[in-house]
Amino acid sequence: RLELRDVSCRFDGAAVVDRLSLSLLPGQVTCLLGPSGCGKSTTLRMAAGVERASAGEILIDGDVVAGPGAHLPPEARGIGMMFQDFALFPHLTVRGNVGFGVRGAARDRVDELIARVGLSDKLDKYPHQLSGGEQQRVALARALAPQPRVMLMDEPFSGLDNRLRDGIRDDTLEILKEEGAAVLLVTHEPEEAMRMADQIALMRRGRIVQQGAPYNIYNNPVDAEAAAFFSDIN
Ligand code: ATP
Ligand code: MG
Repeated sequence: RLELRDVSCRFDGAAVVDRLSLSLLPGQVTCLLGPSGCGKSTTLRMAAGVERASAGEILIDGDVVAGPGAHLPPEARGIGMMFQDFALFPHLTVRGNVGFGVRGAARDRVDELIARVGLSDKLDKYPHQLSGGEQQRVALARALAPQPRVMLMDEPFSGLDNRLRDGIRDDTLEILKEEGAAVLLVTHEPEEAMRMADQIALMRRGRIVQQGAPYNIYNNPVDAEAAAFFSDIN
């Protein structure tokens, strides 16, 4: 469970994220959806701990990981991360990438997760020997290997061609549901949010302007700007 409480981020005096509050439940996908530049990635980066909040608090499973006088580094937060350029380690095999930094009992999960993403026959291949879709699957398995409580994903499908994307979205969703983490998925594509989300948080200029189940937001947009944003979905 991830909670952001009145979190802000300022760059050069301007609030890029402005007193934003958001709560994520385990086993649910929350999509942070909004136009380019509205502060989505900054919000996710604060949750990850790679960006500092200038105000507010962030809690994971009830523990304060960021706030006045507290700032846990990313590796101490129990999170998994996936970004647009999912940057696998080029000198490590599939198994090496997924197992990187995984110790103890979780090691058994490495081969299991590789099987789960359908790459058992590619265990010893290197990233450059894989297709884009396969690399994306490796990145997913790698992010899930340490059994994160919270999974943070920033436009993880945008590097894939259209033909692959739908299938990988569906498979990813299925695996995330099985793993039961609280998922924050950043996207600027309404269609992706409609497809993946249990909950959509519609963001604009550093704030959440509307939040709810996908079809509620689609059917009852809060204002003309929100309606226009959804209007290109068919
Ligand atoms: P996109 O959909 O294009 O990825 P986004 O919603 O993820 O957009 P952010 O990356 O969060 O947007 O950026 C929000 C705003 O903050 C932008 O105007 C950006 O220029 C600004 N910004 C982000 N990082 C910094 C930084 N380190 N220093 C100054 N300004 C920044
Ligand atoms: Mg972004």
